[in-house]
Amino acid sequence: MILFDLDGTLYLDGKLFPGVIELLEKLRRSSLQYGFLTNNSTIGPEDYYQKLKALGLPLSQENVFTSCEASSLMLKTLGIGPHIYVLGTAKFRQFMQSEGFIHCYEKAQALLVGFDTELDYRKLTEATRLVLKGLPLYASHPDPICPGDLPDAGMLLEYFKAAKPGTIIQGIAGKPHRWIVELIENRFQVHRSEIIMVGDRINTDMRFAANFGMRSILVLNGIEQPELGDIRPDCIAPHIRQLLDQYWPENLPLRVS
Ligand SMILES: [Mg+2]
Repeated sequence: MILFDLDGTLYLDGKLFPGVIELLEKLRRSSLQYGFLTNNSTIGPEDYYQKLKALGLPLSQENVFTSCEASSLMLKTLGIGPHIYVLGTAKFRQFMQSEGFIHCYEKAQALLVGFDTELDYRKLTEATRLVLKGLPLYASHPDPICPGDLPDAGMLLEYFKAAKPGTIIQGIAGKPHRWIVELIENRFQVHRSEIIMVGDRINTDMRFAANFGMRSILVLNGIEQPELGDIRPDCIAPHIRQLLDQYWPENLPLRVS
């Protein structure tokens, strides 16, 4: 199975990179399964499905994996809820409610932090009070900065750690953590070792693959190769369109350990 990160990998500023449609059409005709993966929790999986469809990508709803569904899986598996405080957008709150969670303040048993582009002082104050009260803290994903320069969920986690020193993040759902892998395995009946992760970030996409024994392709898409640190992608493709031929996933070399 091929798993694609979205921002910076398939598109930038809402515009697909050249060759992406052709690549997906080739995958659709092959026997390889594929999925789209995002840590962005501002909108739900249905909205992402519509967004990707509107870009012209061949997909169905089940091909989309977001940190929203991973958050639900994480909290349900850990037995958290149904009363939680969701620090996130109205769409994220709606999604969690559709999964059986009840967003509330007084009765909240845990705080779930997402990428909240609708953050205001009231929400921040409520969430801060819950953290000061010692409620367990969870997050949809760990990214401090979202594509470009937007403060994301990880930045809020740092804020809460500053609000109450010693605060521990009890669980994070999105990549590079385990819940989103389990979500994919459950839905597609694949094992993590059969997944090839395609992405543009070392610390999320490539670390995610390394953490769970997946193979990985780093795509640069015109950006200078980032510092790899201790991470070794199986392949580094200068551009996503090269997956069509030179880096066609079935031709990937086996991992050399
Ligand atoms: Mg990316």
